[in-house]
Amino acid sequence: MGYAQEEAAKEKAEAAEAYECEERPCHARAGAGREIRMAVHPAAAFEGLRQDLSWGRQGMTISLLWIHRFVVPHECMQYSMPSERNLYVGWRALHGSERDVRAFARPRVVVSRCLGFDHCRWNGDMITSEVVQMITPRVDFLPVCAEVEIGLGVPRKPVRFVEGENGIRLVQHETGLDVTGRMERFAASFAGTLREIDGFLLKSRSPSCGIRDVKVYRAGGTGDTVGKTAGAFAAAMAARFPNLPAEDEGRLRNRRIREHFLTRLFTFAAFREVRAGGDLRELAAFHTRNKLLLMAYSQKEMRELGRIAANPDKKTFPGVAGEYGDHLNAALSRAPRYTAHINVLLHALGRFKAGISPAEKTFFLDTLEQYRQDRVTICPNLMILRGWIVRFGDDYLREQTFFSPFPAELMGVSQDLSHSQRDYWVK
Ligand code: SF4
Repeated sequence: MGYAQEEAAKEKAEAAEAYECEERPCHARAGAGREIRMAVHPAAAFEGLRQDLSWGRQGMTISLLWIHRFVVPHECMQYSMPSERNLYVGWRALHGSERDVRAFARPRVVVSRCLGFDHCRWNGDMITSEVVQMITPRVDFLPVCAEVEIGLGVPRKPVRFVEGENGIRLVQHETGLDVTGRMERFAASFAGTLREIDGFLLKSRSPSCGIRDVKVYRAGGTGDTVGKTAGAFAAAMAARFPNLPAEDEGRLRNRRIREHFLTRLFTFAAFREVRAGGDLRELAAFHTRNKLLLMAYSQKEMRELGRIAANPDKKTFPGVAGEYGDHLNAALSRAPRYTAHINVLLHALGRFKAGISPAEKTFFLDTLEQYRQDRVTICPNLMILRGWIVRFGDDYLREQTFFSPFPAELMGVSQDLSHSQRDYWVK
């Protein structure tokens, strides 16, 4: 048996041993030679990788490189992709620590105080928000309760929006107390104290903190609603900081909304640090690291940001950073479409065209087509690329924030995919 055949046989044996699909063992099968074709449950594949790493087996590098060779049955792939968290575990273990992969700036976020920081709701309650709990280790929160700050105390009679002759007013309808002016004055003075913040995470549907969908009642106490609007405090913050990401904890349960929000938060926080450093070369490096991310968000703004960072007019740092910041806000204002993601993935694929085989390229493009058809998430293609980044040592792509715009653990895992949630088979 020649060297190549021996290696192939060894890989085949290890594959069968390490990546047997626990849930659907019938899917484990191996082909011949180096073209090992494995049909495994993706989560099982990454669990196998994780175990390989923790056992310190020599196969760990090979395991990661094998990502590009997996052939996964469609029915397994759809809605069952390995989580970012699992990938992160493997990635981190391979590189020693997450800092080696990417150091993240800490966003500074104004948060509604009742979201886990204080019992300050009108009835003395506090809200437990999984999203707030999840991102707390990575974020510096600035908790505030506008209703307490305007002197309403805890507990208190609830406030609501009421539309009357004088327009929409914020009133304590049980007492008739109109606190609109107090709230406006507090919001203005609070906004004046804020420095170096990156976003807002506020309580949904509150007449003070709600970002949207706050009920407006008809005057007269009938309980009829006449429409919806933003909370008084939230609206004042949006007017003062129109470019900063602002979401409520309810909407952030949605993965796409959360992904967009976190991407903006962590990108703005990183840019804030660059800005504080005052170094044009750092600004240029920031732009280089974010190029693919910006390409996904807005090609037009990416080109404009590149021109600004190149600083052809030899402006001073404050002028360049100010202009760059304005365009960065504009670039990230709307979440990217899936077609823009596909464009970036194809762009990244182009960097490996000399190293990968036609079969590997076909596999990547087939998977991409499934993403286009909304049958799988973007994760499979990202992981294939990450595998190639390691395999070919592509430092440019390794640095790209597109692959990890924020700490991976902040996405969490959907409950229906998580293996650590309730046991559905217990009777
Ligand atoms: S929603 Fe805002 S104003 Fe209301 S209790 Fe929470 S922090 Fe205070």
